[in-house]
Amino acid sequence: MSLVDTCLVDCPYCGEVLEFAIDCPDGRHQYTEDCHVCCQPIAVDVTVAAGSPEMVSVAQENE
Ligand SMILES: [Zn+2]
Repeated sequence: MSLVDTCLVDCPYCGEVLEFAIDCPDGRHQYTEDCHVCCQPIAVDVTVAAGSPEMVSVAQENE
């Protein structure tokens, strides 16, 4: 059984609350995910510890 953790973040462009699936090994990961609502690229910075997302922050890609 494998559970994918999700987290709620506010889109830095349109302010919509988005649910992202966090499926990463332990450590810090930075990647880009498109907003489901406005389709802008969001820079996601997530830290995973013991299989769970511990810290998630989002920013505009071109900041
Ligand atoms: Zn958006």
